[in-house]
Amino acid sequence: MRVLLVEDDEPVAESLRRGLLRYGFEVEWVTTGAAALADESPYDVVLLDLGLPDTDGLDVCKALRDRGDVPIIVISARSDETDRVVGLELGADDYVSKPFGVREVIARIRAVMRRMQPRVPEASASAPGPDRYGPRLTVDRKAARVHLDGEEVSLAPKEYDLLAFLTEEPGALMSREQIMEAVWDANWFGPTKTLDVHVAALRRKLAGAITIEAVRGVGFRLVVNEDTGAGAPGPEEGKASGQGDDKASGQGDVKASRQGDGKASRQGDGSAS
Ligand code: CA
Repeated sequence: MRVLLVEDDEPVAESLRRGLLRYGFEVEWVTTGAAALADESPYDVVLLDLGLPDTDGLDVCKALRDRGDVPIIVISARSDETDRVVGLELGADDYVSKPFGVREVIARIRAVMRRMQPRVPEASASAPGPDRYGPRLTVDRKAARVHLDGEEVSLAPKEYDLLAFLTEEPGALMSREQIMEAVWDANWFGPTKTLDVHVAALRRKLAGAITIEAVRGVGFRLVVNEDTGAGAPGPEEGKASGQGDDKASGQGDVKASRQGDGKASRQGDGSAS
């Protein structure tokens, strides 16, 4: 996924660039509006600072929008609500206020991308095969499929989205707001009860392979269990039949022939969205 970062503030740009690289994004960094508009190569998303040295970022936003439908996320130190409104009116897809964390930006990028290309993203050629979390769990982000001990786990769409989000950075504490925003809606202001329901479902379906810790008053943290669960006192769903024979060796084409038998057939529970 290619990101065009338009930002004249070097420390901000540098930390953002590093963070994005860590998450597997390719980043092209320019410091002026002119350079941003001169760059005609295709991008998956543009991160656009409003306070640029040569031109108003809002003009750049409008010019980019006139040119095509690349998602634009405005980043700005201006806390002025007018900027936000005008930015969105000029065609920006989202808005992040400085200071911000890299994770917040990533969450917004993903939310915007999800709205652009609903379900399976095609632009993820940089991510071959499923991602592996510990010895038991794999998440195939291309196919949006999850395997536990080599068998496909049937997840409701939002359960999958939640798992995909939490596994982006195992061990990191994600606030309820971050999660709601990334998984449900970019402008979520309501209650977050549905989040608890989905967390409970993931805990049940993936018991033993991961732990989702609740941090009171803040949010959740996903921890990958590194043991095979063989000797562990497995919670009832931890014992899958194919356990231990390591047939899911990261190939991604593990056949999910067992789907629908018993444990994987809970789809639909708690999928209030
Ligand atoms: Ca600036």
